[in-house]
Amino acid sequence: MGEPYFTVEAELPGRLGRVGVIHTPHGDIHTPAFIAVGTAATVKSVLPETMKQLGAQAILANAYHLYLQPGPEIVAEAGGLGAFMNWPGPTFTDSGGFQVMSLGVGFKKVLAMDTSRLQTDDIIAKGKERLAVVDEDGVTFRSHLDGSKHRFTPEVSIGIQHQLGADIIFAFDELTTLVNTRGYQESSVQRTHEWAVRCLAEHHRLQDSAPQRPRQALFGVVQGAQYEDLRRQAAHGLTTIRTADGHGFDGYGIGGALEKQNLATIVGWVSSELPADKPRHLLGISEPDDLFDAVAAGADTFDCVSPSRVARNAAVYSATGRFNITGARYKRDFTPIDAECDCYTCANYSRAYIRHLFKAKEMLSATLCTIHNERFVIRLVDQIRAAIVAGEFDELRAHVLGRYYGAPVR
Ligand SMILES: [Zn+2]
Repeated sequence: MGEPYFTVEAELPGRLGRVGVIHTPHGDIHTPAFIAVGTAATVKSVLPETMKQLGAQAILANAYHLYLQPGPEIVAEAGGLGAFMNWPGPTFTDSGGFQVMSLGVGFKKVLAMDTSRLQTDDIIAKGKERLAVVDEDGVTFRSHLDGSKHRFTPEVSIGIQHQLGADIIFAFDELTTLVNTRGYQESSVQRTHEWAVRCLAEHHRLQDSAPQRPRQALFGVVQGAQYEDLRRQAAHGLTTIRTADGHGFDGYGIGGALEKQNLATIVGWVSSELPADKPRHLLGISEPDDLFDAVAAGADTFDCVSPSRVARNAAVYSATGRFNITGARYKRDFTPIDAECDCYTCANYSRAYIRHLFKAKEMLSATLCTIHNERFVIRLVDQIRAAIVAGEFDELRAHVLGRYYGAPVR
């Protein structure tokens, strides 16, 4: 292989955090890195060129959505995800497992409920019907688009992700929720392990059958919910999986239900079980305090749909906290969203104008706020990376979080 896939360049003393570089066929990713989410092969409302300009290093698209439309064979015909969406840089796809399983319980990623008293394996969100059923071999589900029936197995997911052709792909795993019983979590971790074995085997079979294609990296996904023994067992188990000719996973994803207060602890358990020379991706975080916690606990990359999703609902980040730009107080506020931000939106547009765009239901509102929010998170992670190198991580954390959560939002 020559160059190692991941190189560590600096470490956070006494903790698991580090600065490194992931080398992909479409360019390097300097970690820690925030990976922008482009679910359907587009970061909603923003051009790929703009994403590049605002510092995005890689884009993560969703295998489930692209499987349903336009279909992975179309993306393959176009030359793969990056070529299809005109993004020349590194790409990720998630396995589709999360979306498929979410159909199963009808819940969004974050469970906004007190889970301490509730333990059940048959939860359905109010007003939703179960759209997915898990068995030992895979998941049968109905499309959220037209109700048509589909089936994902580890082999199907890897096959789709090979057609999509992203640089980093993920093993198909079972997502559980915090309200599943301990017994179910145990059997689920075992099932995800068995699926990981099949994913790695299928990945190498497909890779060997098309050696001319750019090499994709496969990340195993660690589940185990809030249980330390299950998380450690799951992480360690993935490190033992090898193909017949000795290949293991290229990196690891940390998935599943994570409560905010346990995030650092759980990422720390998992990171300490995983090899230091492989990158670790944490699925689904973007809040400033979570970013610092996750990096310190050993996460190298993370993705989250929130910066663009909340932007479309007029919620914008600033150094002194998040606020809603449609507030009446911004009607005559001709200052930028965040005077300290270096993004295109903040350089050229005022709060009053953006508020007007939202009030008038103009599409440009989503574009301008997404540019700002994506830049805010990417720049913060850039600062975290520089602070680790400079030995100033804790100083930056205290400074940024003190202002973000401490100061009154203007
Ligand atoms: Zn800005």
